[in-house]
Amino acid sequence: MKEIELLKELQDLELLARKTADQKARIKALREDIPAPLLGHYDRLMKRGKKGVALVRRVPGGGLCTGCRMRLPSGPFVTLLRDTDVAMCENCSRYLLLAPEEEPEPSKKRRRARKKTASGE
Ligand SMILES: [Zn+2]
Repeated sequence: MKEIELLKELQDLELLARKTADQKARIKALREDIPAPLLGHYDRLMKRGKKGVALVRRVPGGGLCTGCRMRLPSGPFVTLLRDTDVAMCENCSRYLLLAPEEEPEPSKKRRRARKKTASGE
């Protein structure tokens, strides 16, 4: 979900020890863009010293919440994959965002300049 991506960006910025003026301005803009209920839950988690957004790593047969290292039940994982609704970890109640897929390192062939285009949209 777009909102959760914004929340993750906000989290990354807020966790910086030192922020530039640009970053502070971005935080303000993000806080205005993110729906209040999401922001409220995020703030509650952050106040307890927890991150509000956790990345989900793909593992065989499902997903793993990197916040609490628990395997996700299929419900939230399917929500996450379909991107139909905000997904939340049932165990640590963090918002979930699918981690970007890591590109497999080419082992034999030399790197080529050719770029793969994403299929679909
Ligand atoms: Zn979790």
